[in-house]
Amino acid sequence: MIVTRFAPSPTGLLHLGHAYAAITAYECGDDFLLRIEDIDKGRSRDGFIQAIFFDLKWLGLSWDEPSLRQSSRMTAYAEALASLKALGLVYPCFCTRAEIAAEVARAGEAQHGPDGPLYPGTCKLLPKEEGLRRMARENFALRLDVTKAAALTGPLRFLEHGHRHPVDPLRFGDIVIARKDMPTSYHLAVVVDDAFQRVTLVTRGEDLLPATHIQRLLQALLKLPEPAYAHHALVLDAQGRKFSKRDGAVALQALREAGATPSDIRARIGL
Ligand code: GLU
Repeated sequence: MIVTRFAPSPTGLLHLGHAYAAITAYECGDDFLLRIEDIDKGRSRDGFIQAIFFDLKWLGLSWDEPSLRQSSRMTAYAEALASLKALGLVYPCFCTRAEIAAEVARAGEAQHGPDGPLYPGTCKLLPKEEGLRRMARENFALRLDVTKAAALTGPLRFLEHGHRHPVDPLRFGDIVIARKDMPTSYHLAVVVDDAFQRVTLVTRGEDLLPATHIQRLLQALLKLPEPAYAHHALVLDAQGRKFSKRDGAVALQALREAGATPSDIRARIGL
């Protein structure tokens, strides 16, 4: 049985790009799940969650109720984080964005990843005792030592559209996997929940393809089952740009209010 999911972050209204992702996941799965990725407390809104339910039902989708909300899963994420710590793969980082940018500039030729320059590793060199002392009084992020992690797992692959691709675990550098007041990051939460919800096929936009490298690494470290992946092309606007939550004109709600039907939406995104 193929289990798929649509996993929006409730930080804005769904637009045509989301409709494409949601319908694709729905049509690829025997069982379709909706997961609300609301770990970003500052930007998530209940009103957007209600709008997501409304829009998806309007499009004719249904899912196993109740949908999982990531904000209710902090204990599970904390457990996963503890496992990574127990493997000796996590270190605290006290650098501000400005300090990282200055360090990257100083180094001259920083390596770049999908999200910009890679973390230069400043805090990796801190003695453990000093790290612990500073954690008590300063803000910090927890980073994954990806070099050490990759040595532990050995070479990995992920299955994309039926083909095995080699994982490049160093692609994002030492990513942030948690923060002082938050026991998870996007990557960790997704991996823990895809396993918890027994998702067997992850369909999502190709902008998230790079994320698969780090997510596959986390799965291997946490000994979680490996889903298959099928990233799809993004729906682009007339100028060839991807839709943004800030562009109200392509919000499903606005299109509906302007008289569009669910079939019009499908036609517009070629489904
Ligand atoms: N919550 C993510 C987003 O809205 C999607 C995560 C995923 O599909 O893995 O972009």
